[in-house]
Amino acid sequence: MFPDTHFPGAKKYWHMGIFHDWSEAIFHPMSHALHYGTSTFEGIRAYRTPRGPAVFRLPEHIDRFLHSASVLRMTPPYSRDEIIATVRLVVRENGLESAYIRPLMFYAYGNLGLVPKACPVELLVGAWEWGAYLGEKAGKGVSACILAKRRVHHSQLDMKAKLGGVYVQSTIYGLEARAEGYDEALFLNLEGNVAEGPGENILIVKDGAVRTNDRTESILEGITRTSILEIARDLGHATDVGPITKADLFAADEAFFTGTAVELTPVVLVADASDPNVPRTEHVIGSGKPGPITLRLKEAFAEIVRGGNPKFEKWLTYVR
Ligand code: PMP
Repeated sequence: MFPDTHFPGAKKYWHMGIFHDWSEAIFHPMSHALHYGTSTFEGIRAYRTPRGPAVFRLPEHIDRFLHSASVLRMTPPYSRDEIIATVRLVVRENGLESAYIRPLMFYAYGNLGLVPKACPVELLVGAWEWGAYLGEKAGKGVSACILAKRRVHHSQLDMKAKLGGVYVQSTIYGLEARAEGYDEALFLNLEGNVAEGPGENILIVKDGAVRTNDRTESILEGITRTSILEIARDLGHATDVGPITKADLFAADEAFFTGTAVELTPVVLVADASDPNVPRTEHVIGSGKPGPITLRLKEAFAEIVRGGNPKFEKWLTYVR
């Protein structure tokens, strides 16, 4: 029996066409993905709207999912349309009005050589209610710590793919940042510029313009990031995509993380522990409180995902 302590609202998960009770386990311990991280996943949110729950940018998430699977040379067991239908079904079946949805495709039980030649590719989808990813403090703004280890470089792996094993780097440095007393980690890339958080992008605001980086800076170009850039332009803000140096970040008027889990979370303090030979420094961002443009974007995003802005209805897939 597996308790649902950290998965409020989760009743059933879907695996290869069958719903299982949340408390039920169905995998063999020698499944390939458990040993080598040979999986790909998506993080998707559905929001409560007046027309029932709506999934935010579902086709874009599933396209990224299928791209990630192709990087792992997987033959997906279901089509794009079937996966989209399954995500909607899982939210309905769990009776959720808002949800965090987790599709996972993985090399399952077969052989245990690094090459999964006898392992079937299996698909799993779960959903539950996941509140603020970085805790209740997220509203007031969070702290981030730049650690010494650099982000996996885009010359080493396809950064457009969300691959299970690659997230071990996110876990290690997410733990390290918290052990140092900060809310989240922040990676530099090999060039020494600011890359991203372990599971989120970073954007800055300077003189009214919203700036972020792109895939040439060793980041996953998040769907939330790209949506926020579009929303910022719609609100009349200039946007700009290019490298972000540490100096740009420390001198920014405002900074915030974006991601499906964190949504839009202000960053109000950044610690620089990037050089183990130099004492750590702390940099307050702007006023040390969530800035006005950050709050405006956060509000606009919250309205859009809840079906409150007809211009952005195109981003919603209704569940019922
Ligand atoms: N970077 C990384 C490493 C991530 O894991 C995520 C979360 N998927 C993001 C950025 C943000 O992406 P999205 O907005 O598509 O959730």
